[in-house]
Amino acid sequence: MSDSLKDNLPELQEAVSLNDYSNFKVGGPAEFFYVAKNKEDLLKALQVASKAKVPYFVLGKGTNILVSDKGFAGLVIKNECNELKIDGTTVTVDGGYDLATLLVELNKLSLGGLEYMAGIPSSLGGAVRGNAGAWGNSISEKVVSAKVFVDGEVKDMSHEDLKFGYRDSAIKHVDGAQILEVTLEVEKVEAMQSKEEMFGIMGKRSARMPQTANCAGCVFKNIELDKVEVDKEKVIKALDVPAEEYETVTRFGKLPTGWIIEKLGLSGKVIGGAQVSQKHCAYLLNAGDATADDIMQLISTIKTQVRDKVGIQIEEEIQLVGF
Ligand SMILES: Cc1cc2nc3c(=O)[nH]c(=O)nc-3n(C[C@H](O)[C@H](O)[C@H](O)COP(=O)(O)OP(=O)(O)OC[C@H]3O[C@@H](n4cnc5c(N)ncnc54)[C@H](O)[C@@H]3O)c2cc1C
Repeated sequence: MSDSLKDNLPELQEAVSLNDYSNFKVGGPAEFFYVAKNKEDLLKALQVASKAKVPYFVLGKGTNILVSDKGFAGLVIKNECNELKIDGTTVTVDGGYDLATLLVELNKLSLGGLEYMAGIPSSLGGAVRGNAGAWGNSISEKVVSAKVFVDGEVKDMSHEDLKFGYRDSAIKHVDGAQILEVTLEVEKVEAMQSKEEMFGIMGKRSARMPQTANCAGCVFKNIELDKVEVDKEKVIKALDVPAEEYETVTRFGKLPTGWIIEKLGLSGKVIGGAQVSQKHCAYLLNAGDATADDIMQLISTIKTQVRDKVGIQIEEEIQLVGF
């Protein structure tokens, strides 16, 4: 199995710590580690791993993962594919391309429409897979199609095929599926106005969320009130909040998990080196010397308390690796 990887991927590394590649700054080693600098390398690594039946995992910017202390038994492919083509308002970009860089490059050409994504640390592939977004908007609004490695071959998937939902896409539900390239349709904008909008959004983010901490953003998804049955009276009673406050926080159709965690008195809660952020309670932080196990214990404590006291089973937004 591993011979096939070594024979076909000359730059293959072994026992590489994933701690440095995860924004949580925790996690053990990848058994095998390969950096794909272009789509040909990426495709080759995916095909070799699939054929040899070696478990693999594609790493974008590592901002939405929690890697176990044991690490990952298999091949981690760091996606550094970085090609960008712009034709009018049609943008074709590699899955490994940095989202912040894309926003800057578009702005130089008076293109935009993705201002709401400003400040979200991400690769394009990671953003499309999880339909990343903020302020009620998400990347899917601009996605036309994607080239995807699935079942050993490359397929074109249309916007409809990608079946976007809240922090969700079809890619999440197909084992081993990887986004090689994304096509976006953006808009002509007034560059200075668009830039000011992005700075404004980043300022708003800094005020409300811990932007530079060792973390993975919101660990838990908000609760979609049109999909999950929620006993409103039970929530109001359990959290001891006025009904008006419940109405205010749910006005966009979601019950924010950060609000529930805060109202349960868990703001700032510490387990080992892991801590619930006091700025935004859906963010869990590595406050210095956390292990992945500390963070998992904190996740588990929060989920249990929310289930037992409020009657809702909350779900992780982050991707668990090697557990
Ligand atoms: C400070 C901070 C703030 C954040 N704020 C937000 C926010 O406002 N909104 C939001 O939606 N998210 C937010 N996040 C979470 C994170 O930024 C997004 O989920 C981001 O899109 C993850 O992209 P990534 O490249 O880092 O993915 P990674 O963390 O590297 O990977 C996450 C998952 O995506 C998979 N993946 C990566 N690349 C590909 C690919 N090419 N094809 C298929 N699968 C792939 C990985 O295998 C893994 O399962 C925040 C995170 C941080 C640290």
